[in-house]
Amino acid sequence: MEIGRRDLILSAAALALTPRALAAQRPNRPLGYAIVGLGYYGLRIIIPEFANCKHSRLAAVVSGDPAKARRVAAEHGLSDRAIYSYANFDSIRDNPDVDIVYVCLPNSMHAEYTIRAAKAGKHVLCEKPMAVSAAECEAMIAACKAADRKLMIGYRCHFEPTNLEAMRLARAGEAGKIRYVRSEHGFVQGDPSAWRLKRALAGGGSLMDMGVYSLQAARYMTGEEPVAVTARESTDRRDPRFTEVEDMIEWTLEFPSGALAGCQSMYSANQNRILLMGDKGRIELEPATRYDGNRMWLGKDGREREVTPPAGPAKTQFAGQLDHIVQCVRTGQEPVVSGEEGLRDMRIVEAIYRSAREGRTIRLDGRA
Ligand code: NAD
Repeated sequence: MEIGRRDLILSAAALALTPRALAAQRPNRPLGYAIVGLGYYGLRIIIPEFANCKHSRLAAVVSGDPAKARRVAAEHGLSDRAIYSYANFDSIRDNPDVDIVYVCLPNSMHAEYTIRAAKAGKHVLCEKPMAVSAAECEAMIAACKAADRKLMIGYRCHFEPTNLEAMRLARAGEAGKIRYVRSEHGFVQGDPSAWRLKRALAGGGSLMDMGVYSLQAARYMTGEEPVAVTARESTDRRDPRFTEVEDMIEWTLEFPSGALAGCQSMYSANQNRILLMGDKGRIELEPATRYDGNRMWLGKDGREREVTPPAGPAKTQFAGQLDHIVQCVRTGQEPVVSGEEGLRDMRIVEAIYRSAREGRTIRLDGRA
């Protein structure tokens, strides 16, 4: 076969291209994720979801357990070069296959790994709660801005069809003027040695875990930002599970429209519910924010009917969120659940704890 001079020049040019340059030539290739933390969420829930994605793929794993990392890498066809430890994580900057780092670690490690990822030139998807303080959230946002990288928080309900339809119905006025939201989230946390019960790792108790769903629901169902919060905590400190963090915490948010949200989280009962009451009807979700099987009812004009939401564009809420940040990277748009959104929640979380501690209402709008 005769090889022409032009073919030779083209092949030489292709060989000379770096992987990064080659990637840039294929703008619609799926972007590569590094999953940091091969625990329950990262390993069991997120990694299998790449099979449901259109624009995302697994490109690397980061773990403190080399044997587990090798097993997971082998199962997903990754080479040893795609395995990182926490110690050599920063060298991920030299891996052009990794575009996005997904932080699935205990809460107190979110800030460190988000900032290290941004400094390594990677975009970041960080699990909720965004961090353990508003100051950490601000540092994470600043690091991603300085590196010109996207930052998104793992608020998967913004990609879940039942919650999306509930938001749409609420905004469309299907329940009338919104007067009240109630949201309760919790599960029985049985293991006293769990990191979720250690203040240094979790940053707090049920509020930092399931309470974030209640808080988010109050904000996305009303579409408003709260101006004040009043909270109370109830924890049996003789229970060995709750020597460091709270079990149950309840808080009321006041919104500019006059709507109130009564929210709660706990580690001593299973609950998963959102209720919105307007002056013309009610929207009720139960279970509300699970991985699947969420259900919703609209009560109006003396009748109650179950609402089946339209299927979303993604196969699952997890695939929707994984692919969303990829689209943001490609188009330059901000994620619908950006770092600023996580920071807003963390400021309210801090006010909830302060209100419970000081036994008074805390204003969030700067008014005395
Ligand atoms: P997990 O305990 O199952 O996994 C945590 C991972 O972090 C493990 O791989 C563990 O080895 C690693 N790790 C590294 N340093 C550690 C340390 N000092 N102590 C403990 N673990 C350490 O936890 P998880 O349930 O996977 O939660 C991880 C994050 O994901 C949390 O921030 C949690 O809030 C979030 N999460 C989100 C959802 C959701 O639906 N969005 C669901 C579950 C968890």
